[in-house]
Amino acid sequence: MPATIVSPRLMRIGGGSVSQIAEVLGLFGLSRPLIVTDPWMVSSGTIDRCLAPLRAAGLAPAIFAETVPDPTDTVIAAGVAVLQAGDFDSLIGFGGGSPMDTAKAMAILAAAPAGARMRDFKVPAQADRAAVPVVCIPTTAGTGSEATRFTVITDTETDEKMLIAGLGALPLAAIVDHELTFSVPPRTTADTGIDSLTHALEAFVSKRANPHADSLALSAMRLIGRHLRIAYHQPRNAAAREAMMLGAMQAGLAFSNSSVALVHGMSRPIGAHFHVPHGLSNAMLLPAVTEFGLNDALPRYAEAARAIGVATVEDADQVAGSKLLEELRALNQELGVPTPREHGIPADRWEGLLPLMARQALASGSPANNPRVPEETE
Ligand code: NAD
Repeated sequence: MPATIVSPRLMRIGGGSVSQIAEVLGLFGLSRPLIVTDPWMVSSGTIDRCLAPLRAAGLAPAIFAETVPDPTDTVIAAGVAVLQAGDFDSLIGFGGGSPMDTAKAMAILAAAPAGARMRDFKVPAQADRAAVPVVCIPTTAGTGSEATRFTVITDTETDEKMLIAGLGALPLAAIVDHELTFSVPPRTTADTGIDSLTHALEAFVSKRANPHADSLALSAMRLIGRHLRIAYHQPRNAAAREAMMLGAMQAGLAFSNSSVALVHGMSRPIGAHFHVPHGLSNAMLLPAVTEFGLNDALPRYAEAARAIGVATVEDADQVAGSKLLEELRALNQELGVPTPREHGIPADRWEGLLPLMARQALASGSPANNPRVPEETE
């Protein structure tokens, strides 16, 4: 089946590249950006890494810093009001997946007729138009949102984390500077790192896998498999941070051109109902979901185990598949990933919401790409 491949028009990658933000905007004739970020970026002063080079180039950017984790439709509407009230020609999403997704969603909603809401764009709708171009600058090595055609927005009326897909969500450019991740604390390094590993693995075993996405997924798994633990234990290890940032971006490109699958389908309702950070809910699910589908795509999972570095070419696929499961469980153990109960989710609330979460997971479309597609009861 033919595959459509998309990626940002420009990606500037490397330590210190954030200082070139004004030049990157200039390449596209852009000079009046609205920066979308979160409150911590402002209170910690991290935003100055983006502001200072813009100001030095004579630009006067404005800041919308009201992004929340798991960005909501109400925050997007507030951001669109700011965007439309000013004379902006671009958006800069600066931060983790939440600010980047907020910027992308603002561009999509601002291009729609008055009265439109984010839910009008959720999959299977297509969100192909953007009011202004978006430049993304990630500060976590995780979501890959800087390179994907997706944004994930929570509907505050239904508590649904909606997947929104289309060219309107694809950034014009990305600046990928691993030095911005030195300050990421170990818990977030672990959660975002497992998120990126999940992207690469799901893209690779997806029913929508294709040779282009495969090459990116394999490269991402090689990088993440060898560097996630080091980045977790040694936050200022530049080589590990650089490898993780590149791996996260490649994993984003991989799933953007293939798909995510069952882990992400199940993870979104957990995030929406219990506000578990996105990467952490993926991590909670990854070993069990991998075990569930292992024998339905054994050669692929075995190849993934070899890329991650826990199996060799001499290992038979069944052996490599078992080693992959062992590694995913060991990684969760070493990175302190809790069970839902250990995370503080009461068992009765969890069990009460399971049927709804199962329905929401299946309705999102992602599980249909999994090597083994579960029934609602499973
Ligand atoms: P996040 O953006 O919510 O950030 C998590 C926390 O880390 C925040 O408190 C933030 O302030 C902090 N942080 C960020 N960078 C930091 C730094 N350099 N130093 C210290 N602290 C820092 O988390 P995330 O995991 O990056 O993004 C999650 C969101 O991305 C979710 O809403 C998820 O659904 C979405 N997502 C989107 C895509 C996509 O393709 N669009 C893919 C996967 C996930």
